Amino acid sequence: MLSLLRRITQEVTAAQTLPEALDIIVRRVRRAMRAEVCSIYLVDPNSGEYVLMATRGLNSDVAGSVSLKSNEGLVSLVGRRAEPVNLEDASAHPAFHYLIGTGEERYCSFLGVPIIHHREVLGVLVAQHEEKRRFDEGEEAFLITLSAQLAGVIAHAEATGAITSLNTNAPPSGSDFRYKGVPGSSGVAIGRGVVVFPPADLDVIPDRKATNSEEEIRDFYQALEAVRQDIRLASNRLSQHLSADEKALFDVYLKILDDNSIAGEIERKIREGNWAQGALRQVIKAHIGHFNRMEDPYLRERASDLRDLGRRILSHLQEKAPNLAERFTEPSIIIGEELTASMLGEIPIDKIKGLVSVMGSGNSHVAILARAMGIPTVMGALDLPYAQLDKVDLIVDGYLGKIFTYPSEALINSYQQIVDEERLLEKEYETLKDLPCETLDGQRLSLFVNTGLSADIARSLDRGAEGIGLYRTEVPFMVRDRFPTETEQVHIYRQQLEGFAPAPVTVRTLDIGGDKALPYFPIEEENPFLGWRGIRVTLDHLEIFMAQIRAMIKASAGLHNLKIMLPMISNVAEVEEALALIRRAYVEVKEEGYDIKMPRVGVMIEIPAAVYQVKELAELVDFLSVGSNDLTQYLLAVDRNNPRVADLYNSFHPAVLRALYSIVEQVKDEGVGLSVCGEMAGDPMGAILLMAMGYDVLSMSSTSLPKVKAVIRNISMEQANDMLEQVMKLSHADAVTQTMARLMREAKIERLIRPAQSSSVN
Ligand code: PEP
Ligand code: MG
Repeated sequence: MLSLLRRITQEVTAAQTLPEALDIIVRRVRRAMRAEVCSIYLVDPNSGEYVLMATRGLNSDVAGSVSLKSNEGLVSLVGRRAEPVNLEDASAHPAFHYLIGTGEERYCSFLGVPIIHHREVLGVLVAQHEEKRRFDEGEEAFLITLSAQLAGVIAHAEATGAITSLNTNAPPSGSDFRYKGVPGSSGVAIGRGVVVFPPADLDVIPDRKATNSEEEIRDFYQALEAVRQDIRLASNRLSQHLSADEKALFDVYLKILDDNSIAGEIERKIREGNWAQGALRQVIKAHIGHFNRMEDPYLRERASDLRDLGRRILSHLQEKAPNLAERFTEPSIIIGEELTASMLGEIPIDKIKGLVSVMGSGNSHVAILARAMGIPTVMGALDLPYAQLDKVDLIVDGYLGKIFTYPSEALINSYQQIVDEERLLEKEYETLKDLPCETLDGQRLSLFVNTGLSADIARSLDRGAEGIGLYRTEVPFMVRDRFPTETEQVHIYRQQLEGFAPAPVTVRTLDIGGDKALPYFPIEEENPFLGWRGIRVTLDHLEIFMAQIRAMIKASAGLHNLKIMLPMISNVAEVEEALALIRRAYVEVKEEGYDIKMPRVGVMIEIPAAVYQVKELAELVDFLSVGSNDLTQYLLAVDRNNPRVADLYNSFHPAVLRALYSIVEQVKDEGVGLSVCGEMAGDPMGAILLMAMGYDVLSMSSTSLPKVKAVIRNISMEQANDMLEQVMKLSHADAVTQTMARLMREAKIERLIRPAQSSSVN
C-alpha cells in the first residue's frame, strides 16, 4: 500500500500540467481500487461550484463543463462537511443530484472524500461502483490517505497551472496572475525576474529561452563527451579493484549516455527554445519518473544512475556558464527556490530591485538582510512556478507578500503610484536625521541599528543611528569560502567600530546554525533551530571563539566603544564560561601591548529559559538585549523559517508581549542596560509598545529607523502608555494588531508608516 501510494504521488508530482496531474490520479485510483468510476471535482474559487475536472468511468467529454452548485449533490455535501461520505445506494440519499450528461445513472455506490489543503476544501475525490455495496473500510482509508497526500500537489498544480511550460507558451502580458507568499521586506518592486539557483542541482534549474540554440547544442554535446571521458577514465583507473558486477555499472552508464534517444530528446528540447540546462532537466527528470514507476526493482534503480549522470552533465555545462554577478546587466527581481544570505552577497546590490524566495519566511535571515538593505521581498511563495519566471515581468508587493506575473498596464500604474508615494515619504524622513527621537512630551528613546554588511555603516549614519545594537558577525563569515583569519576579522570589525566611534558598537559572537549555514562548515541536523546553534557551537570550538573575541578586542584599540554580545544563551554556565574566556582574551591582547579597555559584555534574551532566569543573567553581565525574533519562535514553538506556519508566527501574541513586559519588570532595578534588537523593535507598532514597557534602547535595520523615529516623535508617552494598557488586556494576537492599528489611526500617525495600503490596488 505504501509503495503504491508513493508511486502515485511521484507520478502526479512529475506531471507538467494540472489536467495531466488530475488524469493520472483518476486513472491510477480507479485501477488501484478496482472501482468502475473515479472522478475529481475541484472548487471553482469564483463561483464556489464543484466542477467535474477529470473522470474515468463517467463521460469524460463533459469534464470541465459540468458542475454542481455549492449546496447541490453528494459531492458538495462531502465538501461542506469536510468529511467522507460512503453510501451503498447514492440515489436514495436526499442530497443526491443527478448531473446530466455524465452517465452516472448506472452507478449505485458512492464514496467521496474531501481534498483539503491548509484547512481549505479544494475539491472532492469520488469512487463509484455499479454494485449496490458500501466501499469497505480499507478502501475508504486508502482514498482518504491518498487524498491527504495529493492535496498539496493538487494545490500546487492548480496554482501553477496558470502558466504552462517555457515562455514560448507563456500567457500574454496583462494576465495579472497572482501568487501568495509571506511579506519579507516592505516596499514594491516592478521589474524583470532573474532566477538564481545553487550549482549542480538538477531539480532547481529553471527553464530559460536559449539565446543561441546552436551554441547550446554544441555545449551540451561537449558536456556529454566530457562525462563519457570521466567515466572511461574512472573505469580504467579502478579496473583492477572492481568486480565484474561493479565494472558493469560503468558500462551501464556509458550505455545510457550512448543511447541516442536521450541525447536526441535533449537536443530537440533545445531546438524548441529551452537552454541546454533546462532541456537536460526536463528530459532527465521525465526519464527518472518513468524508471521510478517501473515494478522491477532493478529497473527502478536505474533512476538513480540517471540522476547521477544528469548531475555530471550539468556540472560540465555550468563550468561554462557565466557566474552569478556577470548575469546581472540591469536591476532585476531575484527569484530562487531558497535564497540565502551568501547568494545575496554574490550579486551587486545595485542590480537587486526585489527578491522572491519560494522557501523561508518573514523572519528568515535572508529576509532580515533584505529589510536592512531596503529591498522589497516576498518569502515562502510555495506555489510560485519559479522555474518559469526567468525574464518574465513581475510585481513584488513586499507589504502584502504577493507576486504578480505578466502584470497589466493598469496594475503596473497602480503599483507605480505606491512606489512614488514611498519616495515622497523617504524625503520626509530625511528631514528627521539630526532630530532626537523623543515623544511629544519629551521622553527620549535611543535608536540603534542592526548591521551585518559593511555597506550598512554609511546607510546607518545617514539615517541618524546612535550606535550599533547588533552587529551580526555571521554575515561576513557567510560570504567567504573559509573562516576569516584573526587579522581579517580585526579589519572587518574595525570598520564597524571606527565608523561609529565614539558611539557604542555591539558585536555579537558568531550565531551560526538554524537557518544560517556557512558553506564551508555545514551543520546537518534534524532540528537545526533546537540544535547546535550560536554559543553552543562556539563554546565547542574554542579556536573559533577565541580568534573572534581577540579580533574584536584588538579592533577596538584606541576606540573603546566595543560591546560584546552572546547569542542563544539558555543557561548561566554558558555565560560564566564565555566570560572567563573573554577575560582571558582581554589579558592576552593587553599583554601584546594594545591600548584597550575591558569591553562591556551582554547576553541575548531569546530563549524562554533566559526569560525565567533573567535576574541571574543580569547579575553576571553589563547589558541584556532581547532577541524578539527567536523569543517569538521559541515561545510559540513556531519555526521562523517555515512558510507553512508563518501565520502562527506573531510577535504580538499576548504570550510574547507578557514575556517582554516581564523581562523589564524583573530587571528594572538591577542597573543593567536593556534593549530589544529583534525585528519587532523596527516595527512602529512594536516600538511604541516596547517603549511603553520601559525599554529605552531599540535596535533595528537602518531602513526601519526613520519610520520608527517619525512615529515616536508624533505621539506622547501618555498615549503610548494608554495603548500598552489596552493591548495587554487582549487575548488574541489579531486583536492586538487591530487595536493598535485603530489607536494609531486615532493618533493620526498611521500615515507615517507606509504609503496607502497596497491592498487598495486589488
Ligand atoms: C533575534 O533573534 O531577535 C535576533 C536579533 O537575532 P537573529 O535574528 O540574528 O537570530
Ligand atoms: Mg536570534
